[in-house]
Amino acid sequence: MQILPVRLSGGGRLEDVLSSICNRWNNLSVGRFSVSYAYEDGYCALQNESDFENILFLFSNCDRINAKVDENKHSSRLIVGSTIDEVGDVDEVVDDELEYVDRMDPAEKYCKHAETRYLTKAWADLIEGVGQEFPLGVKEFRAVLARYAIENGFMYRFVKNDKLRVTAVCVIEGCEWHVHAIVNRTNGVFPIKKCHNEHNCGSTYRTNKHKRVSSRLVADEIAGIVEKKPKTSPIDMLDWFTDKYGLDLCYHSAWLGLVNNIPVMFPSCHHAYCLYHLLFSLKDHFPGQFRKGFRNRLIELFNKCAYASSVSVFKAVEEEFYQFGGDKARSFIVNVPKEHWSNAYFKGQRYGEMSFSAVESFNNWILKAREMPVFYLVDEFRRKIMKQMAARRVKSMKWNSVICPKMDKKLARFIKKGRSWRIIMLKGGLYEVRCLPPKVVSVDERTCSCGYWQSNGFMCRHAAMVIIKACGGEGTLVDHMDPLYLLMRIDVHMKNPYIQL
Ligand SMILES: [Zn+2]
Ligand SMILES: [Zn+2]
Repeated sequence: MQILPVRLSGGGRLEDVLSSICNRWNNLSVGRFSVSYAYEDGYCALQNESDFENILFLFSNCDRINAKVDENKHSSRLIVGSTIDEVGDVDEVVDDELEYVDRMDPAEKYCKHAETRYLTKAWADLIEGVGQEFPLGVKEFRAVLARYAIENGFMYRFVKNDKLRVTAVCVIEGCEWHVHAIVNRTNGVFPIKKCHNEHNCGSTYRTNKHKRVSSRLVADEIAGIVEKKPKTSPIDMLDWFTDKYGLDLCYHSAWLGLVNNIPVMFPSCHHAYCLYHLLFSLKDHFPGQFRKGFRNRLIELFNKCAYASSVSVFKAVEEEFYQFGGDKARSFIVNVPKEHWSNAYFKGQRYGEMSFSAVESFNNWILKAREMPVFYLVDEFRRKIMKQMAARRVKSMKWNSVICPKMDKKLARFIKKGRSWRIIMLKGGLYEVRCLPPKVVSVDERTCSCGYWQSNGFMCRHAAMVIIKACGGEGTLVDHMDPLYLLMRIDVHMKNPYIQL
């Protein structure tokens, strides 16, 4: 019998305890033994970090917890301080310490606590073997594989990973576990072609944290919940996941998981991410050890991606971003779907707004008022807005253009730039602008192949030239504008601010 004292001051993790055991007894490896402790009339298995946190909590008043480790029978147990008498052969106990002692364990009983069934339990058997089919294709296969690895406690890496075939192997060098699936081109089904479903690495061990817990997985798992409880917060999500799934999420995945569910709740609303916040996330993704110049260049490239107004431009800059940032950059973009932050893919209308700075500056504007009781707060809002409106009204009296001055200037610049371009009509409402490279403008649909018109809601230089030269002339420019930019509309606001509000 040997004794291994493990200090647990300030918490501690099961993972650390297990590695201390492995360090002491070289012939043991994580996954080749389990740990349990005596509790009331049975034994509680210590299978994961949350079990471990439970014993630390339950026995916070005990000064020691003893464990028995038996490598042959794949079982072990921990004896809690107060029940130490039940174990005859433990005579040396150190205060405040957790001890692991070699001993045969004849009893394979577990207490009720150990039967806590997480919703992930069923994930353990998701990969069955050769011939198993995934009717929804590669996405379904990847989702299933991630869940399977999380529950069975191992990490895999992709040897091949595209729409047509996926090969994954265990990350531990020399381990034979692997799975290979390839698409059936006639029906899109994804069957497993090769599979060795056993690990000889000995490092399968289910923990509360796993790299494959992605925001996509979170989004899929919580879809039903969010539909029933639209006010779910990321913090609720964290608690719920620990409770039901035995998995610890990071705040970012919980938030992204919720955000990914917005289209389910509001199918016709297109959700734009704040570019400013995304850039912060990107910085977090490339922490301190990366050079400042490197990070700045990445941010610059990401910015370019976001502002690119056509898919072809986006793809070119995206490629540059990947070339520069490597796989780590790729893994960042995977988690933030393009249609939420890039002008080229965004389906809604962002009027050129890329960040929530309007919200932030409003927040800043009312900062002091936020501390006030609600009645004063509302009154303070009213006062501030009233003052602002009055000031703007005075200012706008001096305006004599049809559209607001800022856009008027922009339009003048556009017209100046495009004077020399030739316009060719392709068919009704569709024109080609002979600039370099040429652009195609659809006046009826308010689109231009440069992408600016559709993403900003304000016509680009190409569209302006088409309207001036080939359809209606300069006087009709305003007819093709979103009324939001027209002064007439602003006037109505200014004259009857309260009615409009
Ligand atoms: Zn393995
Ligand atoms: Zn254009």
